Amino acid sequence: MRAEFPDFRLGSVLATSFTGTLSERHGDAVERIPTPRRLVDWLAVYGLDVDSCTPDQLDLARELRESIHAAATAAALQDTLPAFAVRILNDRSRQGRAAAILTPEGERRWRLGPASGLEDALGVIAADAIGIIAGERDGRLALCASPTCRAAFFDTSRSRTRRWCDMNTCGNRQKKARFHANQRKSAILTG
Ligand SMILES: [Zn+2]
Repeated sequence: MRAEFPDFRLGSVLATSFTGTLSERHGDAVERIPTPRRLVDWLAVYGLDVDSCTPDQLDLARELRESIHAAATAAALQDTLPAFAVRILNDRSRQGRAAAILTPEGERRWRLGPASGLEDALGVIAADAIGIIAGERDGRLALCASPTCRAAFFDTSRSRTRRWCDMNTCGNRQKKARFHANQRKSAILTG
């Protein structure tokens, strides 16, 4: 029998999609990589194929995830970056030995080292986060408007006015809540 796990929320930006594997941080938090196997599955979706993951490596991944979340949140608020988060990001980035490979079709793929695939994958994620937080990429770090979420996301919309980390979940919920609030208001006015 296969255990049921929460679905992944897949965004187009590697680092903030990774922080999204823990959602509703300010509500009933949902852990979307509850087991080492689920982390392996998540990495595979992003082209980071690793053979295995130990419980210790899962801890390492979650530590990186929360460091990216902390640093990206500070960057979105234009606060000082937390020192612990900067240290973890740099450690993971340094320890990764992935190579960027250009395919004949002109796409980039990652080739992870033969020995420690998982650390290499975390290195790729850390480097991606560094690029975003350092403001190297075209976009803006922002925090999700949902009060139970507040996830840091990378807004690449032309107007830079995106409000939610994910339109299908946080965005929809917020719209529905507003709709019901308006209905109540008009019920009071007409009632
Ligand atoms: Zn959100």
